[in-house]
Amino acid sequence: MSRSARTAQAARLGAAWMPLTGSAHGIALEILLDGPLPRSELARRLDLSAASLTRLTKPMLDSGLLVETDSGYDAASGRPTRPLDVDDRSHHFVGVKLTADTAYGVLTTLRAEVLAAGEAPLHDRAPGTVASTVTTLVRSLTEQLGDVALADIRAVGVGLGGLVDATGDLVINARYLDWTSVPLGPMIEEELGLPVVVDNDVLSLTRAEQWFGTARRCDHFAVLTIGEGVGYGLVVHDEVVDRPDAGIGLLGHFPLDPNGPLCPLGHPGCADAMLTTGGITARATTALRRPLSYEQVLDLALAGDPVAHRVVDDAARALGRLVAAIGNLTMPRIVVLTGDGIRLAKVSGTTLAEAIRRDRNPYASPLDVRVQLTGFRDWARGAAVTAIRTFVLGLRAYDFHAQHA
Ligand SMILES: [Zn+2]
Repeated sequence: MSRSARTAQAARLGAAWMPLTGSAHGIALEILLDGPLPRSELARRLDLSAASLTRLTKPMLDSGLLVETDSGYDAASGRPTRPLDVDDRSHHFVGVKLTADTAYGVLTTLRAEVLAAGEAPLHDRAPGTVASTVTTLVRSLTEQLGDVALADIRAVGVGLGGLVDATGDLVINARYLDWTSVPLGPMIEEELGLPVVVDNDVLSLTRAEQWFGTARRCDHFAVLTIGEGVGYGLVVHDEVVDRPDAGIGLLGHFPLDPNGPLCPLGHPGCADAMLTTGGITARATTALRRPLSYEQVLDLALAGDPVAHRVVDDAARALGRLVAAIGNLTMPRIVVLTGDGIRLAKVSGTTLAEAIRRDRNPYASPLDVRVQLTGFRDWARGAAVTAIRTFVLGLRAYDFHAQHA
């Protein structure tokens, strides 16, 4: 198929998703999250008759949004079934994670499967330069794949550590980039000609866990990230808690060890001092009197170096205290531990588990703690999921296409 034919097809398919409302939208969403699904299961989940389901799915099958998969057999009746699925390669998305010095990007399918990945250095942090770098990165990701044109991208998500307003346009404050009040979304849209939604990076990662991660389909869970900072996301009643303060990093200065080292704000033993990659590396570097990377500190601890082992063990104990506090205060069913520094939880797993147990009521249910080793690519995938949600739930992408129709 030629590029222009693909583009025309993609535009038609894009239109197929966005006007969906009511039961039709519910059907498409169930299939996106759990498909392929037999018609009988869909009818049960959405409380629809077989006739209604057939009527509602026919236009979606005709437009190509839904496809019938190979037949299976219905367990109850033994009759052949043709389960329904979404054609998840009919829509593409890009997610970009911004750090202080690099933009990391991924191009994904509708189900957040990563098809291409790349990165670009940020030569300076001026908003105009960052917007241009993101634009170039998005173009290079489509060129990497060859058969995906820029027009096939439904929406672009950008994640960063900072406070973003509810529209996904304006970065209110981003500490690592030294920004206040930057309209990053419209700036990139202007250059790229695609809908762009900006989101706090931890909230993006939480949304990715909710739809496509280890906590998918769990209606009450928490996400704790450690890396350059400490991040916390919470899902209650199947909703991501995205109140304005969620982007501040409220757990960053949670007190964990009264005898611990000071953080830059002067708190002894807070989460920032005990758990960040910078805090852990600084303690080991000071004690051993030689420069070390975070991974080297963890490797030394594993190899039995007494100083590195002590520093890492103290950090794991503090992490256990924080996980237990999250469990005690918000009663989640699952706590997902992730972020680029989370290898700590693997290196000192026993200490972590003991510390969690010590701070829990003996009658409390055991906490389901799941460690997800991640890199910056996973943060970028989180930003792609923000874009996917925006598109599927008809939030911003719909406005953009309506304005540019
Ligand atoms: Zn602090």
